[in-house]
Amino acid sequence: MWFHWLVYAVLGAIVVLAIRSRRSERPSRDRDRRPRCNVCGTRFDPSLLVEREVISGYTYYFCDACIDALQAESVARRKGAAGT
Ligand SMILES: [Zn+2]
Repeated sequence: MWFHWLVYAVLGAIVVLAIRSRRSERPSRDRDRRPRCNVCGTRFDPSLLVEREVISGYTYYFCDACIDALQAESVARRKGAAGT
């Protein structure tokens, strides 16, 4: 029956349009090119991150919260070392 092909053609067109509309939505989520903090993985505006290029040439980013946590850990370690 010729109308079966018409039904398949319409269904195929709907599937193609559905896939295209999904694809067009995706780039908006992937468009966030802000750097991630290398410790917690959260994306920040570059002005909010401390940036350090290491010997290998790779650039590391650190957010204020992670720097505070690292500093607190360092202070606690030094206090512990001084106490023994
Ligand atoms: Zn962080």
